[in-house]
Amino acid sequence: MGGSAGGSVLFDRIGLLYTADPEREELTDAALVTEGDRVAWVGRSADAPAADRRVDADGRAVLPGFVDSHAHLVFAGDRAAEFAARMAGEPYRAGGIRVTVAATRAADDAVLAGRAARLVAEMTRQGTTTVEIKSGYGLTVEDERRSLRIARTLTEETTFLGAHVVPPEADPAEYVDLVTGPMLAACAPYARWVDVFCERGAFDGDQARAVLTAGLRAGLGARVHAGQLGEGPGVRLACELGAASADHCTHLSDADVTALADSGVVATLLPGAEFSTRSPYPDARRLLDAGVTVALATDCNPGSSYTTSMPFCVALAVRETGMTPLEAVRAATRGGAAALRRDDVGTLRPGARADLVLLDAPSYVHLAYRPGTPLVAQVWRGGARVA
Ligand SMILES: [Zn+2]
Repeated sequence: MGGSAGGSVLFDRIGLLYTADPEREELTDAALVTEGDRVAWVGRSADAPAADRRVDADGRAVLPGFVDSHAHLVFAGDRAAEFAARMAGEPYRAGGIRVTVAATRAADDAVLAGRAARLVAEMTRQGTTTVEIKSGYGLTVEDERRSLRIARTLTEETTFLGAHVVPPEADPAEYVDLVTGPMLAACAPYARWVDVFCERGAFDGDQARAVLTAGLRAGLGARVHAGQLGEGPGVRLACELGAASADHCTHLSDADVTALADSGVVATLLPGAEFSTRSPYPDARRLLDAGVTVALATDCNPGSSYTTSMPFCVALAVRETGMTPLEAVRAATRGGAAALRRDDVGTLRPGARADLVLLDAPSYVHLAYRPGTPLVAQVWRGGARVA
């Protein structure tokens, strides 16, 4: 998602500008000026200053570029047959990850890099301007390191997920020692975050704690896959260790919800996973009413959520998790930024990075109201048009 910015650009006659800035979250008859790679001015269209270039929004809506804070993009292989079998009645199991691990290990660097870049390009066309990318389909020291090296060429938000699943050839206890020792040492230079799949069939609470603690000691921030398939210790572990985000949060106890609200750990909902596994959706209303910060992300991965589309996830969140359209768009922008501890993206206020989406619609509500419709007309990142 490159592109270079030069000079200033005026976006005017914006029907509805959603800034995601709590100070003034929505403006009508609005304009926005970018200068270089930053937002320079936001206000009423009639008051807008001149700029080097002009984009006439003609009554359409503008919002921040989406922040997709949870994606697994470095992999090879195809699991369409597994999806079809699930739709024919077979349940989802975490062990399916091993199929992708075998294909990923067998692929060369150029194949992995090309596939990941194509997925990022898909995301860009659908309005995503910041993406987090995890490793987790290599599960050897060298395959995890090369996954992160490839991810690093596509985003600064890279996450070491050596603790995705225990590979078939490994003993669980020995594998945790590998992840927290040599694998972490090899991967930390390419990673900003450490993550663990804390779930039955993957890693238990003690193993997850060991992985996260080692990552934190190596200078990484923590994030956790928790509560996807059932309640477990992952959410409270995330809160106790000061993780940025607990992701999935589909199955939560009351104590989990209280811990999220008290700790400020973001609950990142991934409704594409429930869609693709035909599972009950998370209850966003319960989290929002408790005061939890909620993010939305795609969880793009070949097994349980093979979508790159944040607009699709916004539509699912509104239809299936109890969010209003405003809450869902907020979660997909400012919420995702909070999940990555970023304050320079996810909002359109002066000083923020000039990442924005122009919709072929008068309002962001259309993202949920017209699901599956290609409404993203223009995408700008760092002040340059990228789609
Ligand atoms: Zn995931």
